[in-house]
Amino acid sequence: MNLKKLRALALQTTILAAILTFALAQSVLSKAERISESMEPALVHTDQSSAAQAKLDALLAKTGRRPNIVWFVIDDMGYGDPGSFGGGAAVGAATPNMDRLAQDGLKLTSTYSQATCTPTRSAILTGRLPVRTGLTRPILAGDTIAKNPWADEISLPKLLGEVGYKTVLSGKWHVGEAEGMRPHDVGFHEFYGYYGAQKEITQYIYKERYPDLVLNPERLAMLEKTGSSVSLVHGFKGGETSEVQKVKSKEDMAEGDRLLKEFSVKKIKELAAGDAPFFLEHSFMKVHADNFASKEFEGKSASKYPYKDAVVEVDAYIGEIVRALDEAGELENTFIFVTSDNGPQLDSWPDGGYTPFRGAKGSAWEGGVRVPGIAYWKGVITPGRESDDLFDLMDLFNTSLHLAGIGSKVPTDRYIDGIDQTSFLLTDNGQSNREKVYIWNEQNLMSMRMYEYKIHLKVVQEQAQWLNIDMTTVSDVGLAPWLFNLYIDPKEQYPVGHRMNAWLASMAAEMKGHAATFKKYPPKNIGLGQ
Ligand code: CA
Repeated sequence: MNLKKLRALALQTTILAAILTFALAQSVLSKAERISESMEPALVHTDQSSAAQAKLDALLAKTGRRPNIVWFVIDDMGYGDPGSFGGGAAVGAATPNMDRLAQDGLKLTSTYSQATCTPTRSAILTGRLPVRTGLTRPILAGDTIAKNPWADEISLPKLLGEVGYKTVLSGKWHVGEAEGMRPHDVGFHEFYGYYGAQKEITQYIYKERYPDLVLNPERLAMLEKTGSSVSLVHGFKGGETSEVQKVKSKEDMAEGDRLLKEFSVKKIKELAAGDAPFFLEHSFMKVHADNFASKEFEGKSASKYPYKDAVVEVDAYIGEIVRALDEAGELENTFIFVTSDNGPQLDSWPDGGYTPFRGAKGSAWEGGVRVPGIAYWKGVITPGRESDDLFDLMDLFNTSLHLAGIGSKVPTDRYIDGIDQTSFLLTDNGQSNREKVYIWNEQNLMSMRMYEYKIHLKVVQEQAQWLNIDMTTVSDVGLAPWLFNLYIDPKEQYPVGHRMNAWLASMAAEMKGHAATFKKYPPKNIGLGQ
């Protein structure tokens, strides 16, 4: 492929151009198999699939019930925050509970999220890229959405509910708060939490940071007119939705995660006493700015900064919730996954986390989308495992369906970007079934990770250092795609570019093949587009 052609390729990466130009393609570099037009090609590992299934069958025979599924989704925590990922005490906030789960389970060092909150949160519940569901960026106060993206989506809790699971979201939602878009409208049986991120709430009350809003009654009234909820809400599918507590002060916000933890602990006891398996998504409000540590945790981190105290607090609550599972006798029948919904937000630093990678929340660099991933299952996942194989958080969709015994219920009338990773997670020395991760920024296909390589056809450029959200541009690359070898250059600083031409054309072809999936399955526009 000559440089002129590469340049043309780089300019043709918007979906529209892709639709017009390319057909489904696969390069010589790929070993993944496409078994259906509507499913992401996957690597096939027959032996490990059988081994994982044997484990699940044996457990089902022993317990007589499908496993519970518990996710811990931390908001905006950096890859480098947990001790097991290089942070912890070394960066002033020890995380013994997360570290223990990683040591006693499977540590996944190449786990990928979307670059911001709403996109990840919707993707993990649908197995679909945000550009397919229309939820391409965070929904913010004052946003008007042209159509309910959930109206024609099939959520994980909906599918699990159909086979008898009790499904609960405890914590942050951030995927719409109008009727029809709330957690208990889209599949969860019960929701106890907040509709928006902490900052969406604290901008009403944090006068030191937002004086132009908080100290100006006229502006505050305007803000209130957007109708965004600033309350802890309790809602039931097909039932009542009530306001538990309006957040009126920083002190109220500080205690938010404590209340969520208390709810989850109580709910686990209740669910364990029943006959049904359960799916609990415990979704922390912390450590998204603005962080105010709960009274019990103020100054508890070595660093004493509010962000670090919040990391310590979140870690302690993970420990308490896992203990509740243990005390309820459910630990050996519960698949646990711990992660963050995107990279750390550096725009709000020092109220922001740590990543060893380039970029941060909002960007398509590793710092934006590479997050900690911990899979833990007592007695099922062998302790001490670690893998750098690829895991996309969307894979939790397919994997959870498999665990629930309904792997065959993955929708076939729409494109599913998630891959069933059950065999990778559960088998000793299991290998990932995923070969590639595609990284999008709103409507732009930016980059792709494949093996240890990452290719960028568009790049996010900070116009001011650290401002990965508030002052960036998205640019087409020049003559050659920016190609990095993450094993020798994890910070994506020195492209090997066209000098690594062995893979350049193949990787570009993989991206073309991905873009071509939108021909039969067009992206959905709900009005959040640029
Ligand atoms: Ca987030």
